[in-house]
Amino acid sequence: MAEPTQPAVVLSVLDLTPHVRQVVLRPQTQKISFQPGQWVSLKLPVGEKQPLNRAYSMADPSSPYGELTLVFDRVPEGIGSNYLYRLKSGDEISVSGPYGNFVLPMPLDRELLFIARYTGLVPIRCLLKQLVAAHALTSMLLIAVAPSEDELLFHQELLTMAVQSPSFRYLPLVVAGGETEAVAQTLVMLRPLVEGQPKVIPMISGTKRFVRPLRAALMEFGYDRKDVKTETFD
Ligand SMILES: Cc1cc2nc3c(=O)[nH]c(=O)nc-3n(C[C@H](O)[C@H](O)[C@H](O)COP(=O)(O)OP(=O)(O)OC[C@H]3O[C@@H](n4cnc5c(N)ncnc54)[C@H](O)[C@@H]3O)c2cc1C
Repeated sequence: MAEPTQPAVVLSVLDLTPHVRQVVLRPQTQKISFQPGQWVSLKLPVGEKQPLNRAYSMADPSSPYGELTLVFDRVPEGIGSNYLYRLKSGDEISVSGPYGNFVLPMPLDRELLFIARYTGLVPIRCLLKQLVAAHALTSMLLIAVAPSEDELLFHQELLTMAVQSPSFRYLPLVVAGGETEAVAQTLVMLRPLVEGQPKVIPMISGTKRFVRPLRAALMEFGYDRKDVKTETFD
């Protein structure tokens, strides 16, 4: 956590769904070079013990100008995300990073299986954009779970990606309710894809109540714990 903290200016604010917003920042002191799948720490002037540190994954790969694209949902009663919802273009915010190990494992000698719930998709979208831009030959399958049809994040983009990239398959899944229901429905989809099938490289992202049971299920299907890459948001 020794990366320097620096000011960043908000370049743009855009609603992606009724409850998910994108904010693009530009660090002011130095460019933050990162690998897709990594995150930055925002130091927010809010809450009882300031600054409030909150992590956000980059949604877009590194750009020549150093902008950081962050995408987050508004957590009911969430101090950090509600503060971020108040940001406007031109506002300043403190940021440090990059951090994190949710990056592509090497070698990519098996199919990549990405599983995300809701904004858990953010780091995976960044990884997918990197792979597609690099014309990666690795097969990629994404199971993306959303709480409602209109909260399916990056849906049009992912559909287009699936049409244009023969190595990418996209399985969107709408599950009303919380993580327990999402895990149950995801398992129905997941089981035939992994049980008795050649091993894949699983990467799962979301809250702990979503990620952990799915990792446990994969271990029951014969995966080692270390073979299942995870990013947990809480
Ligand atoms: C490595 C890492 C990367 C992250 N990347 C992102 C990202 O790209 N986009 C993003 O929206 N969030 C991301 N988060 C979560 C983010 O840091 C905050 O925890 C989230 O915005 C909630 O903060 P809050 O202060 O509003 O809520 P808090 O007051 O801290 O309340 C959190 C509570 O809300 C629940 N919750 C509901 N939705 C979320 C959610 N999306 N994340 C965390 N908790 C949630 C948790 O279970 C927890 O009980 C990431 C977290 C980590 C650790």
